[in-house]
Amino acid sequence: MMTDSVEEFDICIVGASIAGNYLSHLLSKTDLKVVIIEEHEDIGLPLQCAGIISQKISKLINLPNKIIKNRVRIAKLVSPTGNSIELSGNETPFIIDRVLLDKHFYALAKTNDNLRFYLGERVKSLSINKETPNQSITITTPRRILKAKLLVGCDGPISFVGNFLNIRNKLLYATQIRIKAQFSENKAVLIFNPRWKELFGWIVPEGDKIFRIGIACSSQIRENFMLLLESLNIDYQDRIDQQGGLIPYGMMNNCAFDNIILLGDSAGQVKATTGGGIVMLITAAKIASKCIQKAFNAKDFSKKFLKNHYELPCKKSIGRELKIHFLIRKILELFDKNDFDSFFKIVKEYQIEKIISVYGDMDFPRELVNKMLKNPIIIKFLLKFIIRKPIHLVKFLFISLRF
Ligand SMILES: Cc1cc2nc3c(=O)[nH]c(=O)nc-3n(C[C@H](O)[C@H](O)[C@H](O)COP(=O)(O)OP(=O)(O)OC[C@H]3O[C@@H](n4cnc5c(N)ncnc54)[C@H](O)[C@@H]3O)c2cc1C
Repeated sequence: MMTDSVEEFDICIVGASIAGNYLSHLLSKTDLKVVIIEEHEDIGLPLQCAGIISQKISKLINLPNKIIKNRVRIAKLVSPTGNSIELSGNETPFIIDRVLLDKHFYALAKTNDNLRFYLGERVKSLSINKETPNQSITITTPRRILKAKLLVGCDGPISFVGNFLNIRNKLLYATQIRIKAQFSENKAVLIFNPRWKELFGWIVPEGDKIFRIGIACSSQIRENFMLLLESLNIDYQDRIDQQGGLIPYGMMNNCAFDNIILLGDSAGQVKATTGGGIVMLITAAKIASKCIQKAFNAKDFSKKFLKNHYELPCKKSIGRELKIHFLIRKILELFDKNDFDSFFKIVKEYQIEKIISVYGDMDFPRELVNKMLKNPIIIKFLLKFIIRKPIHLVKFLFISLRF
């Protein structure tokens, strides 16, 4: 039943998944009046994540032990022909319970009376009120009408807020099962194949002999997933449960507009190499929280202000790295079966593993890429590759020049 009165808030956050809950938690430390609207009744559900996060997360947030399920020391990369390389080094990612992570920040944020969560309500319309001196946003759900000075779209890959702003993500389909199996509990496995060239197949050890096996690609997800399971000798019927979801594909979008910002998957803050978004969106949420406090102090919610204090700092930090992730992805997409094998051979023969071990960073690859590009063997490999497919050089230059 819709209430007649308009509820007024400083900020309205759409979506209470990781981006929405973490930002709410940060804002719960201020005096701002915040409303968070989430279409699902239960925070964290349905689960849509493989839960692998670089160790950097523990520098960004206080990660409670109960959320950590496992830790992997080796990344095994498997080529389409079945050849593989194993990389180990400084990076030892966490395997987390993603539902608990979302619930953790929700529980922290909820303790502040200035924050109101409306769960089980979907935002169905938005409009801008051009008032003086400051305009505001009206948000409607099936049950209520709300008004806020600032709107934050944390509403995922097919963002309603993004859609309102004509910002749309290109998307990959993802599916995953959890299953008891006999793989190594110490290794995350990435399986490359031209059929699912926009990402990879994965085996992520959750602990207690349970594995998260999944795949993401742009089409034929079911057929490709069955092929992957067959190649691993896994019977789909033995699954414990199944998850699915969408992953934004590309680079970071523009994310500051008059009275509105986008955060997380809605802003395309996702790594094109792995589909991982959590470290990126946590980094962006910290920038967003500071920007929001500055905007309320200055009473300025203009696109120019939000761009200067949110979008540009995001582009300088995660945006540049997301561009490198996308360039790497575009190169990998052009690899045929032999290219993967030749690359793995070079990595093994010329001890490139050592460079990757020392400089490898799941989130911020710039340093590793710089090191790799100084290596004559890698340059030779890339030149051969580009000479074979010269048209793609133009594409790479085009991507490099964007923002
Ligand atoms: C299968 C899969 C595996 C993944 N694995 C990893 C991984 O291992 N590591 C990693 O870092 N990342 C991973 N990701 C990506 C990661 O899950 C996302 O980057 C992250 O969930 C994005 O968080 P978000 O809060 O921006 O958006 P979402 O988690 O998509 O949340 C959006 C929220 O908004 C709500 N919402 C949407 N529209 C409305 C509306 N109109 N009204 C009200 N509420 C609305 C939704 O219900 C949802 O709760 C994976 C993604 C998938 C699909």
